[in-house]
Amino acid sequence: MKAYETLTIAATLPTVLEPLRTLAKNLRWSWRSEAERLFESIDPELFDRSGRNPVVLLDSLPASRVAELEADAEFLARMHHELEDLESYLSVERWFARTTRDSADAKTSIAYFSMEFGITQALPVYSGGLGVLAGDHMKSASDLGVPIVGIGLLYTYGYFTQSLSREGWQQEHYRAHPPSELPIDPVVDADGNQVHVSLQFPDDKTVDIALWKAQVGRVPLLLLDTDLPTNPEEFRAITDRLYGGDVEHRIKQELVLGVGGVRAVQEYARVTGTPAPDVFHMNEGHAGFSGIERIGQLMAAGETFETALASVRASTVFTTHTPVPAGIDRFDVQLAHRYLAVDEHGESRLVPKIPVDRVIALGAEDDPSRFNMAHLGLRLAQSANGVAKLHGVVSREMFKGLYPNFEADEVPITSITNGVHIPTWTRPAMKPAILAMSGNRDLSTAARWTEANAVGTDELWRIRNELRGDLVEAARRSVHDSWIARGAQDAELSWVRDILDPERLTVGFARRVSTYKRLTLMLQDADRLARILQNEDRPVQFVIAGKAHPADMGGKQLLQEIVRFADEAGVRDRFVFLPDYNVTIAELLCAGSDVWLNNPIRPQEASGTSGMKAVLNGCLTFSISDGWWDEFDDDRFGWTIPNAVHGDARTRDRMESASLYDLLEHSIAPMFYDRDERGVPQEWLGKVRDSISILGPQISAERMVRDYVTELYLPAGRAAVAVADAAAPRAFAEWQRTVERAWPAVQVTQVASETPAPVAGGEVRIRATVELGELSDDDVRVEVVVGTRGEHGDLVDTATVPMHADAGTPDVYTAVVPVDRPGEFAYTVRAVPRHELLKSPAELGLVRLPR
Ligand SMILES: *Cc1c(COP(=O)(O)O)cnc(C)c1O
Repeated sequence: MKAYETLTIAATLPTVLEPLRTLAKNLRWSWRSEAERLFESIDPELFDRSGRNPVVLLDSLPASRVAELEADAEFLARMHHELEDLESYLSVERWFARTTRDSADAKTSIAYFSMEFGITQALPVYSGGLGVLAGDHMKSASDLGVPIVGIGLLYTYGYFTQSLSREGWQQEHYRAHPPSELPIDPVVDADGNQVHVSLQFPDDKTVDIALWKAQVGRVPLLLLDTDLPTNPEEFRAITDRLYGGDVEHRIKQELVLGVGGVRAVQEYARVTGTPAPDVFHMNEGHAGFSGIERIGQLMAAGETFETALASVRASTVFTTHTPVPAGIDRFDVQLAHRYLAVDEHGESRLVPKIPVDRVIALGAEDDPSRFNMAHLGLRLAQSANGVAKLHGVVSREMFKGLYPNFEADEVPITSITNGVHIPTWTRPAMKPAILAMSGNRDLSTAARWTEANAVGTDELWRIRNELRGDLVEAARRSVHDSWIARGAQDAELSWVRDILDPERLTVGFARRVSTYKRLTLMLQDADRLARILQNEDRPVQFVIAGKAHPADMGGKQLLQEIVRFADEAGVRDRFVFLPDYNVTIAELLCAGSDVWLNNPIRPQEASGTSGMKAVLNGCLTFSISDGWWDEFDDDRFGWTIPNAVHGDARTRDRMESASLYDLLEHSIAPMFYDRDERGVPQEWLGKVRDSISILGPQISAERMVRDYVTELYLPAGRAAVAVADAAAPRAFAEWQRTVERAWPAVQVTQVASETPAPVAGGEVRIRATVELGELSDDDVRVEVVVGTRGEHGDLVDTATVPMHADAGTPDVYTAVVPVDRPGEFAYTVRAVPRHELLKSPAELGLVRLPR
């Protein structure tokens, strides 16, 4: 029968239980297991069904359960304990305050822009690694007390959830998440009205943007929302979903994030009376338009474009995340033009006052029809970094075209290796062991863990078995539900109850499905894999998860191959695909596996972070030497699949997969099953202990955020102060014009070594004639570049030594270079621009070498 009418019954929470709302609205619960368990204990089943979302949980509690909780003294005590813990977490002095006390650095305030933030499954505004990294950055910044504000988008549908068809084909599901169901609050002004900002889009249309805030411990995360009744349908859809839609949809999102984000964070500072940010961090090129808005604001205040650019550059940090050119965001120049919407005076309506052609030039690349967001980021930011050491090297090579005349190793892109937030990614069962190994230090600041032996192998083995057991149990549930969703009947599924074995060597593999990550490398020789899985004495099982982008048919085919292999090779009990890879699955999988497999095509994995989550839980690494593992790669912590450097792609895949099987069969499995008389794998656990205690402190997001603060944020903050006095960037812009004009007259001639027979341990004296024309020693640095001669006669492994003007002879410069090693000593002399606002000599692309 049809419903006659539908009413909405409001949930009420009595005053004694109000603290639950306070706890639910601060996402600190997402990394404090006691708090999460408090919510779970209210109604475990309802909590799971709510997507582990305490806000939905509290809004759907039956009145009878509320009455029970009100009368449950033990529950109320736990709730109050959690509330006090949160209050003390928010008030205790933290690392940032201690480090910057008594210095002007204490006033630095940072805005962090990212297209996605992966904080908890309950706030679905992420898709994968980039988002999880941004989420961990916020959490660690909170732990360290770093004054940062996150800026992102509030997606109505978030990213899709995944299920499989009967044929193993990925199905995507999008569910709307109204703000009332999310752990967020509106940002309100003094009158209690939600704060809005707006953007001017083509055809004189205005986009209205509402501001929401998620509180991540001490860190506010602002989320921008265009799904408002005040917007026309086409603008409501801007923040509909993450990485969906066409390029035009994408540029609109990036304009809302960048231009809207700057306006939003400034409004937020105004209504809350907090300092407006002075350092701007763009996490990937998606946020590049933020720099354009800031230039526009300075120009509206009367600055020239050059001066404004110098100011913005000084205070901007840009992080690149992809070593693959195809992974870079590029727009049609015409599209960028259209949105910058030039009026009859050649000015933009989107960002009034900016000269559109200059902005287009900031995003220029080889192909004149493209507007390149990574190039925009690099040209707008004086500080730039990749996300692992190897990725730094690859990025310097990839972007060296932007710094003409300089070698790749001088391209001003440094690296800060990614990390993962320890309290989030360490399972509760492992936390006490981690604390003991660190010597019970504050994990957010301990740079070294000193008590590796504080946890015995028996205890480690118990924890490892518990984590593997949790994974097996969760996998059985998940696979059962997934088959029901694929149309199976409960009765056909009895086999699912016995899939996986809590004692078997477990290989974990979870990835966003991207060609370079090679999801199916393990299937190169399917028969051999099947034999390894079914080995009688040393059986192996694989647990796999991954999502393909909805438009990526090739990726979906790979997923299907995985599922089909499990069914066809008769190994569905030991080769298991878990649907819907998200942060909850990642927690279980990274922790419950014994080895974490990672087989990208080197060097295309910028960093990778899932392997770090695995390390923290005592899972060993089994990886190609790429991303983060390239700098930590060591037999003590796992196994490295040797890189096949020669041959075509097919040969490479064949060779690398053969190494994968060999290692698994002949090294990993034998060591795992090598037990003492009590069944404990001593050698294995020794590795586990080394891996956790030595790598742990280095792969933590706490270390990463400290590095960002000391190496990039604080210097950028100081530079921001230096250029805040408008005279400084004005003088710099003036100087730059002069230097560019006068540069052709700078000449380096008559370079010579004056040490006839140099010996190791001695020195080489070098002399050169350098004419500076109109410029002076204040504008130009003359230096010797020393190194060795590379393949094409170019200098490699370089270092520089300044040269000084010879007091007696005009235009003559000399330097004395100490030499340590015998053998080849190659050098040259060069002149480069010198100015205190230049961070790297490569920035202006000006250099003069001997003729
Ligand atoms: C950690 C994580 C990632 C990133 O893993 P990679 O090693 O970079 O592939 C992706 N997705 C989810 C859900 C994660 O938790």
